[in-house]
Amino acid sequence: MLIKNGKVIIFEDNDVKVKELDIKIQGSKIEKLAKNIKPQENEKVIDASHKVVMPGLINTHAHIAMSIFRGTFEGCDLYTWLNEKIWPIEARLTEEDVYNASMLSILEMISTGTTCVNDHYFFSEKIREALTKSKMRAVITRVLMDNDGQEASQNRINEFIHLFETRDKNNNLITYTVSPHGLYTCSGKVLEKSRELALKYNLPVHIHFLESISEIEDIKKLHGSTASKVLKKYFDGIHTILAHGVKLSDEDIEILKTMDCGIAHNPISNFRLGCKIADVTKYLYNGINVALGTDGQGSGNNLDMFETMKIAALAQGGIHENEARITSKDIIKMATISGAQLLGLDNKVGSIEEGKEADIIIVDLMPRLDNIKTIPNNDIISNLVYNTDGRSVDTTIVGGEILMENRKMKFITAEEIINKFEK
Ligand SMILES: [Zn+2]
Repeated sequence: MLIKNGKVIIFEDNDVKVKELDIKIQGSKIEKLAKNIKPQENEKVIDASHKVVMPGLINTHAHIAMSIFRGTFEGCDLYTWLNEKIWPIEARLTEEDVYNASMLSILEMISTGTTCVNDHYFFSEKIREALTKSKMRAVITRVLMDNDGQEASQNRINEFIHLFETRDKNNNLITYTVSPHGLYTCSGKVLEKSRELALKYNLPVHIHFLESISEIEDIKKLHGSTASKVLKKYFDGIHTILAHGVKLSDEDIEILKTMDCGIAHNPISNFRLGCKIADVTKYLYNGINVALGTDGQGSGNNLDMFETMKIAALAQGGIHENEARITSKDIIKMATISGAQLLGLDNKVGSIEEGKEADIIIVDLMPRLDNIKTIPNNDIISNLVYNTDGRSVDTTIVGGEILMENRKMKFITAEEIINKFEK
């Protein structure tokens, strides 16, 4: 396959650049990136004139089955939302609900330019089934916690082991994390078990971390120490994905700098649950990797990473006055290559480079009425962050396979999924 005449977003010399290049894809990989590549006979050619070709977006923290909670429960704080609203209903979800809700999210992600998602949920074999059908790239898990007793906790651990042991070793698109829910919902026993599993299977850890103010004291009460010290005690030396990290103190930052970890920043969910906002400018200046996530739709509203990029960029202006802060170039990296680094997949995806997997999206910024917000297109990168949304994505490619072309799905039927939810 050949993508011709596009304006390609590449990372070069520590910068984000836009270059007119053609991309030749062979099998699952980007074989060649150059000007004027001649198409071979019978080769599929995608004309990307007036379009932007960029690495697929990487959503580093989501709960994809939570599409079913979209538009519910506004105005709660995190604890009320979880304890009184979400957990009681989640306890009644069936495997079928989780499959269908995951399908809805997959449709949402592919159609808005996300090529890889880091999920955190349960009934995960159903989530895997949905992801496998759609051919998206994903990192999945079975969430562990024991704030409701030992037996439930052991069942979760067994389910995780079953999920991992029954993986299809030939499927390169789906990888795994070990995921204790949070330090405030897991005893030392579960954290110790999580460490054991991560080491045994050589997997990263994915955990909610300092999302809300109440956690700070609750973690001290439960573990007798501050959050970062507890984190270091259990997960030092293990690659760890920290969802949120809104409430990091200077001491926390110093401890995290000594660990192999980074932050999945979910600004919309944080605003929605009244958690305030992470100072990701400061984290980045301290050398901590920060990538972007949407969280589930129950708190994050939707999975459109373009919306997340814009809010993430603007939010820093809400906490930094007349100071240097992140720019749209930083944001593009956070949504792509930094996400790949956070998920431990940067040797495979996250950028358009020869030899990498072809996880690519094509964004339609043609000068016409539908794209009025981007005219004049003085700065493509700024327009991508501030004036584009997921509806402008016209083609989504994962591992060299077209999942959506001209907004038509290839492996799943949009109408079928939408009708199910309308019912
Ligand atoms: Zn979450």
